[in-house]
Amino acid sequence: MNPLYETMATSVFERMSLAAARHGAVNLGQGFPDFGWPPEILDAAARALTDGSNQYAPSRGLPALREAVAAHYARHHGLDLDASGICVTSGATEALAAALLATLSPGDEAIVMTPAYDAYAPLIRRAGATVREVALQPPHWRIERAAIEAAITPRTRAIVLNNPHNPTGRLFDADELATVADLAIAHDLVVVADEVWEHLLMDGQSFVPIATFPGMAARTIKCGSAGKIFSLTGWKIGWIAAAPPLADLAARAHQFLTFASAPNLQAAVAYGLDEGDAWLAPMRSRFARARDRMSAMLTEAGFAVLPSAATYLLVVDLAASGIALDDEAFAALAVERAGVAVVPMSPFAEVDPPRHLVRLCFAKRDETIDAGVAALARAKALAASG
Ligand code: PMP
Repeated sequence: MNPLYETMATSVFERMSLAAARHGAVNLGQGFPDFGWPPEILDAAARALTDGSNQYAPSRGLPALREAVAAHYARHHGLDLDASGICVTSGATEALAAALLATLSPGDEAIVMTPAYDAYAPLIRRAGATVREVALQPPHWRIERAAIEAAITPRTRAIVLNNPHNPTGRLFDADELATVADLAIAHDLVVVADEVWEHLLMDGQSFVPIATFPGMAARTIKCGSAGKIFSLTGWKIGWIAAAPPLADLAARAHQFLTFASAPNLQAAVAYGLDEGDAWLAPMRSRFARARDRMSAMLTEAGFAVLPSAATYLLVVDLAASGIALDDEAFAALAVERAGVAVVPMSPFAEVDPPRHLVRLCFAKRDETIDAGVAALARAKALAASG
């Protein structure tokens, strides 16, 4: 048996969603919207299901989707790519797996900034490499040059950069990205750029992919996800976007992970990317309204909310909210006794994880937000009464 899996805990997202279902709780834990997908894209998927092919897609993806992804990034983010740099995967999770398996060898090290999405560490280990955590510090969660530099050794091969950042809701600024780019070039590292939240921005911000920094195009493997762009997380259509030599390498790993993904969903995502630019701005404003509603209600209920300007996630500081329980204890109490699931943040780091923070998903209809915050207020009262 492989000890990596024998000792592995269930992903915190799955754990909290199962608990939410078991207790009939409002689910503000796992990051998925309960509104917001464009009906046009569902119609396109239905048409593709009945009229299109239901047999294996090419391993690297339908040509129409590969072209649509490249054109989308050229249009929105100035990336100089064509279809030869795109490989369609089963969600960004598989894109990350392919990218990490393709670039890391046994004995290598990879840098992960924590709190970090929970897939990185096990995938790095599956590639035989070692995880080097660099802890970002609340409440600003800034990338500091000295901290990254201190983690680089002669064995370092890759940096995983998640921007915008789950779970903190931060969009890293140009200086922080320049630091990562600089160090990657100086130490000849690959950057696995998990940019799945690239369109989920608020407050007028714009997104700059790390691959557009000078010298970075040839050493960046970008991972994207239609699940995030179109609020269709269950579709699990993602992709790798990279310079052809890196894309080819990752595509070889992808061949023997899933080989290919559902052709009908790929066709619908191609349609969405080609036709759906006008959907993006209203989507952002709708999510910003949901964030503002949830933040205001939480603040009103006595919770300390950290700023969130990207993703559809926000962080609550339990200690600053007057809650003495740690994140896991509060999350258990909230789902079991108050009827709301949240995500404790300690599973997002292995070394010295913060234990006073929980993550909430705000991409919810008003009634879901209202019910969730009311339940959180009950949980806070229960926590205070012991
Ligand atoms: N990376 C990050 C940072 C994420 O937040 C997510 C989804 N929550 C993923 C990757 C996985 O994306 P997908 O669902 O397309 O596999």
